[in-house]
Amino acid sequence: MTSPTNPRAARLQKVFPIDLDKYLPDIIKRNYGKWIDRKFHENGIIEHISATGEHVFTVKIAMPPNARLSADTLDQFADIADKLGVGAMRVTMAGNLEILTDSLDKALKIKEEAEKMGFPVGGWGRSLWGINSCTAYLTCTTAVVDSPSISKALGDALKPYFTGEVPLPAKLRVFVSGCPAMCAGGTAMDIVIVGQWGAPPKIREEMLSYCLPPPKALAKIPESQVFIVQVCPTGALSLRREGDKVKLVLIGDKCINCARCKENCDAFDYDPQDVGVSIVVGGKMSNTGGGPRLGRVLIPWLPANPPRYEEIVAVVKKVIDVWREHAQPGERLGDFINRIGWQRFISLVGVDKVHAFYQKVPDHVRTYMHFRSRGDIWPRFRDGI
Ligand code: SF4
Ligand code: SF4
Repeated sequence: MTSPTNPRAARLQKVFPIDLDKYLPDIIKRNYGKWIDRKFHENGIIEHISATGEHVFTVKIAMPPNARLSADTLDQFADIADKLGVGAMRVTMAGNLEILTDSLDKALKIKEEAEKMGFPVGGWGRSLWGINSCTAYLTCTTAVVDSPSISKALGDALKPYFTGEVPLPAKLRVFVSGCPAMCAGGTAMDIVIVGQWGAPPKIREEMLSYCLPPPKALAKIPESQVFIVQVCPTGALSLRREGDKVKLVLIGDKCINCARCKENCDAFDYDPQDVGVSIVVGGKMSNTGGGPRLGRVLIPWLPANPPRYEEIVAVVKKVIDVWREHAQPGERLGDFINRIGWQRFISLVGVDKVHAFYQKVPDHVRTYMHFRSRGDIWPRFRDGI
């Protein structure tokens, strides 16, 4: 390995890999792995009790969507962790920030400071644990919707479920993905909102030649070796040969609007009015109840209207309301749906009639969780909700 010329890199090379306990505060080092009990103080403050007799308190604070923090905000949290905590904080899988301290008084003060900064405290036990989202418009080239801004609208609407002001039957995790690629995960969350085009892409014929082999080559090579045909995961793109002419055809019924063709060829484009989302429910990663499961499409497409995304918020709240009203204590959304049955669930949500229509659409070739959608589906659902 060549030695780095940058002095900072050289310094880092000397300290990596960092020992696990190198920067741990003393109280954590003394009790590392010795925790024997825990106690909840309000939602979002947890007391950890050690076999040594010492106690540590965690304060769980909601982060901005996509856990995007300016350096300035992070500095303010670091100051709080130094002044009121034991100098340690960590970011959780659910995208929350945890600050550790050594007394309940200090934990309550941390909570007060976080709330003054506009960040709610909560996300433990039978509550909303957090709303994760991918990065979408910030840097991504394939985003259909700006998932963090949908997370923000949802976060504002669902805040009482995070703080514990309104209790839930069990843990709830929500995920917002900017497109069906779902590169940040989320398929196994309780409620997933997935950016989704409402109709197949249009093909600009005049640009297609840039994405196909030259006509003479195209006439000879098998369809399966044509790149733009290969990128389609469902076989919706195929070549139609008419005499010595070859045409690329998009079969709408097979298209799941995944945008892979668009990513690979500028001749494909979507109509901006087809920007929307799918709503998927009932997934979970945990081995509790009926075990881990993938979510199922509840609504294949509904519009995404910034800045408050009223349609999306309404559907998510309706799902939570149904779950709150009918679930047994401790029953995750997926287990609840499994117990009462999908038909009963969609009837309680109020989308059973339109589902009868939707279910006539053939199943997606890849997984149970498919995002096939059509622009005319939303009005049918809207009337049922
Ligand atoms: S899920 Fe889609 S929109 Fe979000 S970051 Fe990944 S590719 Fe981009
Ligand atoms: S959007 Fe996806 S499924 Fe539809 S034609 Fe393009 S690559 Fe195939």
